[in-house]
Amino acid sequence: MRYSGTHQPLTYDVRLPDSAQADALRLLDASREVVNQTLTKLWPYLDEFGSERAGPAWKQVGKYIGSPLPHGDRQWRCESEVVGRLLRQQAERKKAFLLVAPLLSDGFIRPKTEKRPAGKNRPAIKEAITALQKSLDEDETSFVTLQNVVEQACNYFFQQDRFPSDYEELQPVPLLKVGMLTYAGDDGREKGQAYRLAMDVDAGVARFRFRYPDEAGVWRWRTVDTIIPLPDCLKERLLHGELMAPTLREERRADGERFAVLDFIIEVEKEALPAWEQVERVLGADWGVHSLLTVTAVDEHAHQVGRPFFLDTGSFDGKQARTRRQIDELKKKVARYEQERDALPIDHPKRAWYQERLTLYRREVERCWRKYEQRNRALAHLASNVLLLLARVHGCTLLSMESLKTLKTTGRGRGVRGRWRNYCNNATIRGEIWRLLRYKCHLVGLRFQTCPPRGTSHTCPQCGKPAKTYRAPDQRGEAVKWGRWMWCEACGFNGDRDYCASLNIARLGVAYLIQMKHAGKARPCSITDLRVKPVSYTGAGAVLLLPPPRPHARPPRAGKMCYYPGWYGSAFLQSSQPRAVFLRLCG
Ligand SMILES: [Zn+2]
Repeated sequence: MRYSGTHQPLTYDVRLPDSAQADALRLLDASREVVNQTLTKLWPYLDEFGSERAGPAWKQVGKYIGSPLPHGDRQWRCESEVVGRLLRQQAERKKAFLLVAPLLSDGFIRPKTEKRPAGKNRPAIKEAITALQKSLDEDETSFVTLQNVVEQACNYFFQQDRFPSDYEELQPVPLLKVGMLTYAGDDGREKGQAYRLAMDVDAGVARFRFRYPDEAGVWRWRTVDTIIPLPDCLKERLLHGELMAPTLREERRADGERFAVLDFIIEVEKEALPAWEQVERVLGADWGVHSLLTVTAVDEHAHQVGRPFFLDTGSFDGKQARTRRQIDELKKKVARYEQERDALPIDHPKRAWYQERLTLYRREVERCWRKYEQRNRALAHLASNVLLLLARVHGCTLLSMESLKTLKTTGRGRGVRGRWRNYCNNATIRGEIWRLLRYKCHLVGLRFQTCPPRGTSHTCPQCGKPAKTYRAPDQRGEAVKWGRWMWCEACGFNGDRDYCASLNIARLGVAYLIQMKHAGKARPCSITDLRVKPVSYTGAGAVLLLPPPRPHARPPRAGKMCYYPGWYGSAFLQSSQPRAVFLRLCG
């Protein structure tokens, strides 16, 4: 697969029809066995997979080893492709480990106190990685890898009371827990010797045929094509993209149900990014304290364009919290029933009844989780699409965003546990939006720039002086760090804190843009940098509707999706459709 600068792969997974499930699962079990045996044998050669990356991964594996359980040459190639990719990935992580290994110190561990058990000293970890990363001059992705490796090393510390001395000590052989078989090692979908795939876009189906071991363990081709109906989004993509070799994968549910899915991988061309000279407007987006996202457009002369947009998720957090509580209740019931069942003698007739109940509850837990995750995904799609839409409406070709490294709490949700969960869920959604935006920006040709968020909510966007935040515009007696209203003592400017932060982030984007235009290279500025120009509001295209300086309760129209804090009549998403349908339409 080419992860080049001009193309990117998109994956769509489709569940195989029931008639093909048993055979596909048997195939996956057989290849998992081969993959795991090969991985174990090649694990001592991990370094070789870090140094040499040219050519397909199966060729590299083939240099060292033949199939431990031969089921045909192309079948082995596909299996070794899986092995090679896993090893190359692990080799990259090993490189990250070697970078952080000298930094691993007791400072990363927060010692045990009377009230708390030992834990990770996250600020120290973050600081060390940020410093390391500056010296490496790499992007955000490597930060995630580095952090991930450090966290794993800390977990090791908790178990062994010392840091690992080498990567192999830290990471056990990454054996596959569920089956996975990429067909990338085969001869293509028309001439393949392990699979064949024909796309019939007019009929909206794919015809898939594969080699598999039958119940007696004899390898053969399936005699009939498996007809897979194609989802609409996949058909759409097929028109413009190139279909790559698919991957057959096993999915396993908590209640033990397993099924095979086929991942269709389509490589699409990235839209060319606009030249820096052509970028005139920047869209600044802030992860809000009160709303999920706040977005403002600013042009290169530091004039705000149009009104800000607040994407508030309304009752979304509450719904998610309710689902989580439901899951908790169910889990409690499962635990109680398990206990009661285990207390019975082994041949007691009531055991079967308990078993039945348990299966039922486990399935219900699974269903709740799915609902929970689907809602998150739908919201992430909606939010990222709204951002792209706003960028287009305002003619912005640079999206400036706060980096993901810090996360503010929203403080909503019931009880400490509820708030913590809400916080975690917000982190998940942001991560999801982030990932979606990164690839969607490539699809539409939008530049994407991250900036350090430090101080963006406590700096006046109009004069650049530090400013304080308060609970509400009329409660200026006491400054509150997470307060909703920002007020600048120096120039009297005041506004919703998320709005101010989004303006500041746009200002950082503009500073970056100006550097790129003049010098052809740039470093992200901090908000106190003199190169970051104050912004003015020209009210271009809109009558300036200043908010009455008083606190706002929930607005009367709050119902479907969004509300403003502070600005009447700013953008507002509403639909007569039920929420579920609405979300799906937008995603
Ligand atoms: Zn000011």
